[in-house]
Amino acid sequence: MPIHEKSLIRPENLKVQEKLEIEGVDVSGHWSTFIESRVVTDYNEALEEEIAALPGGEFIHRCWQCGSCTNSCTVHALNTDFNPRYWIYLIRTGMEAELLRDKDIIWQCVSCNKCTYACPRDVVPEGVMKATAHWLELKGHTPKSHSMVFDEVFSEQVFKTGKIEDGFTVRRFFSRTGQALQQPWLVEMVKRLMQNLPLSLLTRMGLANVIKPRTRNWAGARDAINEYVAEQEKQHRSALGLDELVQMAEAEVKDGVAKRA
Ligand code: SF4
Ligand code: SF4
Repeated sequence: MPIHEKSLIRPENLKVQEKLEIEGVDVSGHWSTFIESRVVTDYNEALEEEIAALPGGEFIHRCWQCGSCTNSCTVHALNTDFNPRYWIYLIRTGMEAELLRDKDIIWQCVSCNKCTYACPRDVVPEGVMKATAHWLELKGHTPKSHSMVFDEVFSEQVFKTGKIEDGFTVRRFFSRTGQALQQPWLVEMVKRLMQNLPLSLLTRMGLANVIKPRTRNWAGARDAINEYVAEQEKQHRSALGLDELVQMAEAEVKDGVAKRA
């Protein structure tokens, strides 16, 4: 629902005087309830451009708010607060503070892409959810999600060797996210693999753990990919004004130190 259809009377906006008497009439408690006025002063006019600058967010401007993405969404069916159409509306109207109220659930998109198939305007809402989660992390509003850590581990390995080795990816992912490797589901999966896979394949998988597979003559491709990734990261930082934010924070810290000296 667009924000104007949503109740903006939130518990924190309700003010109640525990003891209040007006012209001899006791209006304490519930009788003195008033709603604090709400003024939006924190628009981020660049919000749509910032999301559009990140991978997946490119087509956000096409959205005409039909709601098909939310209606078809797997996560919305479980939690109605998860609402891609509403977040796209907030982004396009620059309502950053409203978007941040939902910062802890936006990353929950499971990338099923039902929304992408339902969207009549080719907005690719799944991509917009990814871009928004990425934006939240880059701006420091949320910690890096496990999904982002997995993407990093996966990409690092492909960039480095030109191949992917599942065991190494899983081990590194668990280590970076501070999780124990001996997950019951993982132990069960390994047991079943050992029972059902041919011995030759198991041997190859075991060897891949020791001698990491590499694509021959990969160095040229690796350098080109790394150069491209660095260029993209630079563009994203610039679109989000991250370097300016860091400079401002550093200046504030210096200022604080100088004042205390
Ligand atoms: S389905 Fe597409 S056009 Fe419709 S609200 Fe979602 S993103 Fe916008
Ligand atoms: S990709 Fe994400 S936003 Fe789209 S339907 Fe699936 S869970 Fe919902």
